[in-house]
Amino acid sequence: MIEPLERAVKELKRLPGVGQKSAERLIFHLLTRDEEEVDRLSQAIKDLSTRVNRCKVCGNFSTGDKCDICSDSQRDRSKICVVSRPWDITKIESTQKYDGLYHVLGGLINPIEDVAPGDLSIGKLINRAKSEEVGEVILALEPKTEGESTSMFLVKKLRPLGVEISQIAQGIPVGRDLEFTDKATLGKAFEGRRDI
Ligand SMILES: [Zn+2]
Repeated sequence: MIEPLERAVKELKRLPGVGQKSAERLIFHLLTRDEEEVDRLSQAIKDLSTRVNRCKVCGNFSTGDKCDICSDSQRDRSKICVVSRPWDITKIESTQKYDGLYHVLGGLINPIEDVAPGDLSIGKLINRAKSEEVGEVILALEPKTEGESTSMFLVKKLRPLGVEISQIAQGIPVGRDLEFTDKATLGKAFEGRRDI
């Protein structure tokens, strides 16, 4: 394989779920497209690193300092839903069952992978929960071991603040990522959330 092809295949193979065969297929496909289309794709990918930031308030993806949700005056500012990753927000938004704000932890506490509470955006969450306008914190972390232990840790930290703490209903199969949970199930999980 000539050098530019080999390099493109090598880069694509770094992506999750892309092996040698599918990388080659994608490259060969791109080679048959016109230059403009390939340029559009490469610009879109480039924009991911140059135009996408993290919201300074909640950690969601954003093109400015504040994400669309934090800047939206229609959102219920008394509720903060805690998720581990920004794409969980997209998933929850698609259910249209939630109108509050979010907070992205940036992962889950995981001693095996050396993720400690200090590595996550927990201090920031505590500060936000201290604000007068916040009345409820909803935990929407994956119902697997790390999610459970992170939720327990957060409850301990949030309890003294006198804020209401709830958890989305466990209709989500154990070990399933929110990402792979279907919309209807996640929507129901939100409606059926309970105090903890
Ligand atoms: Zn935000």
